[in-house]
Amino acid sequence: MVESYEFLKAVIDTITEHIVVIDKNGEILFVNHSWKSFGQKNSCLIDEEWSVNYLSECDKAAAMGDDFGLKAANGIRAVIIGDEENFYCEYPCHSDDEKRWFMMRVTSFCIQREKCFVISHQNITERKLAEEEVLNLSRIDGLTDIANRRYFNEFLEGEWKRCYRLRAPINLVIIDLDYFKCLNDTYGHQVGDACLKSVGKILKDLVRRPSDICARYGGEEFSIVYGNTTLEQAVFLAEKILTEIHLLKIPNENSPTLPVLTASIGVASMQPNKINNKIDLIKKTDELLYAAKENGRNQIFSEEF
Ligand code: GH3
Ligand code: MG
Ligand code: MG
Repeated sequence: MVESYEFLKAVIDTITEHIVVIDKNGEILFVNHSWKSFGQKNSCLIDEEWSVNYLSECDKAAAMGDDFGLKAANGIRAVIIGDEENFYCEYPCHSDDEKRWFMMRVTSFCIQREKCFVISHQNITERKLAEEEVLNLSRIDGLTDIANRRYFNEFLEGEWKRCYRLRAPINLVIIDLDYFKCLNDTYGHQVGDACLKSVGKILKDLVRRPSDICARYGGEEFSIVYGNTTLEQAVFLAEKILTEIHLLKIPNENSPTLPVLTASIGVASMQPNKINNKIDLIKKTDELLYAAKENGRNQIFSEEF
């Protein structure tokens, strides 16, 4: 009994991985139960006679701009021609109501001198969601719940490249709270922490486009990348931030500037090109912030480079 086709097929049908076996031309020779039911539920790669060609379906997806289709087609062909022994790849396959990821694995075996190729798809959603959560946690500042400096640097790098391609200006805003040490000394560190949270919330509410980010840059310093915008728009945003910080009316009675919490802001705009880089933008913004401090604090200094 254990050697019968029915016995082995019954075993393979209990496996939760979706398994399909193809020949060297991509024709489907066998699919297991999980494959069938997934295909039927998601209306993909399935017809009643299993007469679709797996490779052609990947090619069709690739032609429609699906990167995974292209990667899969190349990977499978590499195993078929013997360039690779195995092929692995992880890919997203989200449905309308849930996030899903799969891992595709391609291996081969030989039977009656014919090579067959086993393609399995394993659901790896749980691991991916856990990885995503860890990544998100590693990007967020624990006190203010906005991005931390590490993620800010990563984001600026990406946005710099994007604006380079678009030939668009990129704006950097650095905000430093005035006489914050005074505030801590007068009211205690916990009050200081609460202020940082309030400022974080103001920034989170004002910075919402996917091309923008606000971050806690350091102790009482915050930064914003404002991609693909003019200097005027960035200054307008900075003015709103100053106003919102004033409206908090947080006492800082020993501050030489005003008896409430204020901030100084540097705003620099730069169009990425072949000779400048993001370090220049940070340096220029820092210089403007320093000038705003020197000129009496509670103000914005801005410049286009
Ligand atoms: P300036 O106007 O020149 O910026 O003066 P300042 O006092 O704000 O600047 P300084 O750099 O002298 O001091 C920054 C202060 O920010 C000192 C530090 O204790 C406080 N600080 C930094 N991180 C935190 C934090 O996480 N919580 C609190 N409560 N205070 C912090
Ligand atoms: Mg500072
Ligand atoms: Mg300060």
